[in-house]
Amino acid sequence: MLGDTVLRERMVRELVEARGVTDARVLAAMREVPRHLFVRDLLMTQAYGNHALPIGGAQTISQPYVVAKMTEMLDVGPEHKVLEIGTGSGYQTAILARLARWVYSLERLPDLAHQAIRRMRQLGVLNVKIQAFDGTVGWSEVAPFDRILVTAGAPRVPKPLLEQLAARGKLVIPEGDRHRQRLVVYERIAGRVRRLEGEEVAFVPLVGRHGWDPPEGERE
Ligand code: SAH
Repeated sequence: MLGDTVLRERMVRELVEARGVTDARVLAAMREVPRHLFVRDLLMTQAYGNHALPIGGAQTISQPYVVAKMTEMLDVGPEHKVLEIGTGSGYQTAILARLARWVYSLERLPDLAHQAIRRMRQLGVLNVKIQAFDGTVGWSEVAPFDRILVTAGAPRVPKPLLEQLAARGKLVIPEGDRHRQRLVVYERIAGRVRRLEGEEVAFVPLVGRHGWDPPEGERE
């Protein structure tokens, strides 16, 4: 898209100046990943505004500030193996892929998962594995994870995810009701789990065995 580098630069400047995001690696990743390729053609011109946008299946790509904030809280290092729940468009996945060694991402809606897989291929992102299943049970075959990020709103943290968190691991999740949540960081230190609350957010519901029931009329 014509001028997308300039639009990204402006988006990043706003993240720093108006929103107080400071992590240089997170900002660099947001400068590099072409967010407009993660939304539908008709919405491309809106891709760099600070808002969520529809991505199909009644789901949304999160606003840039929330992506930046959660990624900053997650504190991802270059050697980390990361699990993400709620691939959606794959935008957050692509950001994580620039910061971590490996990213495993789960999306319950197969159409969205397949689209995201195609996008990773187009963008040449090679350190990501995406699968379509209920992420509230985690991904035991490839656990434990150094970092876990949940990008859908949960009633409480799914127990399997805490169990799949490595020693000194961190997990970030929006916890609350179906419409409003608070970002929470769980950290595993010396056999204990510390819980820290952050700011308010509004995510679509985390639907699954350890999350909310599916919307009425939907067959699992
Ligand atoms: N990070 C994404 C956010 C997508 S919205 C982005 O920026 O594009 C949240 C996503 O979580 C939706 O796509 C929804 O289908 C998915 N989701 C909800 N419950 C889930 C579950 N139990 N397992 C995996 N994905 C889930």
